[in-house]
Amino acid sequence: MPILVQKFGGTSVANAEKIRRAAQKAIDATKKGYQVVVVASARGHQTDHLVADAMELNPNPPKREMDQLLSTGEQQTVSLFAIALEAMGHKAISFTGFQVGMITDSTHTKARIKSIDAKRIHKELKEGKIVIVAGFQGIDENDNITTLGRGGSDTTAVAIAAAVGAEVCEIFTDVNGIYTTDPRIYTKAAKMKEISYDEMLELASLGAGVMHSRSIEFGKKYNVKIHVRSSSEDVEGTYIIGEVPQMEGIAVSGATIQRDMAKISLVGIDNKPGNAAKVFHRLAEAKVVVNDIMQTEVSTDKANLAFTVAASDLRSAKEAIESIKGEVKCDSVFTREDIAEVSAVGVGMRSHYGIAEKMFSALAKARVNIDSITTSEIRISCVVDKDQAEKALIAVCDAFDLDKSAEKRAKK
Ligand code: ADP
Ligand code: ASP
Ligand code: MG
Repeated sequence: MPILVQKFGGTSVANAEKIRRAAQKAIDATKKGYQVVVVASARGHQTDHLVADAMELNPNPPKREMDQLLSTGEQQTVSLFAIALEAMGHKAISFTGFQVGMITDSTHTKARIKSIDAKRIHKELKEGKIVIVAGFQGIDENDNITTLGRGGSDTTAVAIAAAVGAEVCEIFTDVNGIYTTDPRIYTKAAKMKEISYDEMLELASLGAGVMHSRSIEFGKKYNVKIHVRSSSEDVEGTYIIGEVPQMEGIAVSGATIQRDMAKISLVGIDNKPGNAAKVFHRLAEAKVVVNDIMQTEVSTDKANLAFTVAASDLRSAKEAIESIKGEVKCDSVFTREDIAEVSAVGVGMRSHYGIAEKMFSALAKARVNIDSITTSEIRISCVVDKDQAEKALIAVCDAFDLDKSAEKRAKK
């Protein structure tokens, strides 16, 4: 029997009626001949509420305890889901991450999955049950509960789909697919029929919160077909797959906004071999994930080194920099938290010219100042003031016709 993984995000299980609706989807899939594994997130804004509860008691809560706390949100949903299924006449069993052998490393609040023991899942599926697994959580080798980072239930779902050999991993959410950009900000955004892992990975890691970026890494590595679709409307969504034929004429396929970020600049560090290595070694020890790095030589003696991190890592990053700044003889450290990054992404950029010019002109016309610029072969990112970020995104989307379908843009 083919296996289907169905993941339901927070808004899709926010109350009893929505849980029943989601449970019905799982039952419908069994009627079509699938064995079904459901992965569920915490209900509604439950995770945010738990974070707020912790912050009220301690502005810098121990990460291990945060994982212990946040994982309860998902545990509630999965048992309620199983309770609903039983009431609807279907056999069901719910599991925490621990119970399905979801082993992760020990990086609390952003752990990475190391292995999954799918035996228990297969056993229960064979007995005709719908198996419901708590998203976002795992366990390290010392039996500590870990979580995978905000939005991490997507990664649980795709990793389980890979482990059980699912035909498809369906991600049910509050939008009916992947759009050229966040449709909540750019209401004219166009829905995509399909997108490649590479492009989706870039969009997700640059802030397209619709998918957790690690989930796309798993999808790519294990070739899991991912279908992102609406939990309230029964329409085809967007398929994330290996190869999508590249349409002639399309340089930019999507745009993103990354808000919760910060930039640290080390001004005037000694311009000599080994200093950058020292700085990033210290950051790695502090388990800080660094996004973009910018270094420029300002004289034969001095260089400026800047990097961006997620806002949640800022405290650890600052502590790491404080402890190394004397050693690299840095004149001053400058931190900005009032920033956001706007990016244009597209594999087609590899073969098009004039993309940077178009993006910077659009920002200039919108009177948005650019703090810093970083690029890769398939993206251009600009750090801007946080309060100008939405205006900047809209200007970029208009410049690259992201309100039009890929087919229409290709004909231009
Ligand atoms: P869930 O709770 O189901 O995991 P999320 O809130 O994590 O849902 O993700 C869905 C949201 O992602 C959408 O409501 C949308 O605002 C946002 N989003 C950001 N970028 C995109 C994009 N390119 N396409 C679709 N949705 C996007
Ligand atoms: N509940 C977690 C969060 O809100 C994980 C998820 O929803 O994917 O981030
Ligand atoms: Mg999500």
